[in-house]
Amino acid sequence: MLKQVQHDAGMWGDTAASTPYKPPMSIALAIILSAAAMTLIIGVRYLIASGAFALATRAKHPGLYTGLDAQVRREVAWSLASAAIYGVPAGVVAWGWQNRGWTQIYDNVHAMPLWYLPVSVLLYLFAHDTWFYWTHRWMHRPRPFKLAHAVHHASRPPTAWAAMAFHPIEALTGAVAIPLLVFLIPIHVSALGLVLAIMTVMGVTNHMGWEVFPRFMWRGPVGAWLITASHHQRHHERYGCNYGLYFRFWDRLCGTDDGIGDFTKDRQRSRAPAAARRRGGDADRGGANRAA
Ligand SMILES: [Zn+2]
Ligand SMILES: [Zn+2]
Repeated sequence: MLKQVQHDAGMWGDTAASTPYKPPMSIALAIILSAAAMTLIIGVRYLIASGAFALATRAKHPGLYTGLDAQVRREVAWSLASAAIYGVPAGVVAWGWQNRGWTQIYDNVHAMPLWYLPVSVLLYLFAHDTWFYWTHRWMHRPRPFKLAHAVHHASRPPTAWAAMAFHPIEALTGAVAIPLLVFLIPIHVSALGLVLAIMTVMGVTNHMGWEVFPRFMWRGPVGAWLITASHHQRHHERYGCNYGLYFRFWDRLCGTDDGIGDFTKDRQRSRAPAAARRRGGDADRGGANRAA
């Protein structure tokens, strides 16, 4: 059985046991501070992860994001706005976990059998993937697409900075997933950290424009069930397919899997509009410096 764990005073405040009464104003302030701290953590995490993979892109595929400066600025702005939306439910739940014993997060590794650690990670990834698949598929219906999801698809082709480039409505659907799951499925705090790390890395690398993972993860029997950049790239190219986040399970089951994209071809295609944009910009400045 999962033991109820009492936590020491931490960044989110004192334990319920050590603070018999707090005026509502100080509780509200603690929750606001917790939400602000989470927003900051998520925003900085985004900047570090996307920045690191953008640097890797520059080293590995120089010029891949050339001509996309305005798009990248838009992706960063939407992503930082999303960080605030992700930070609020995360901050409220973190406060409740620390101060009220909310959630099924445990920090004593022996509170559950050790085999449950990897199982819990898989359960979270599968549950998150299921939530993402169905909400994402719904957002491709005409009205929600126009209202919200078009913001994410305005990135053509997406870059490493597009990981959290969502309209606030879409950000809200993403922001509640993990904070709801921690009430339903027990997870050790370090396993939850791993889930969040996988979420961050896949969010960035799926939009990066090239494959960072070894070939077996996107080709062959393993690749047939896992989602990496080659799979999500095709979603950004063709729209009505490849809705999943981590696994191809729902796409395959529902007949929406359309295979994986080809970055070599995509790069050739995306270079043309990028070059056109550069030429347009140069023409605006008098056309003295035409880009190649
Ligand atoms: Zn995407
Ligand atoms: Zn989409």
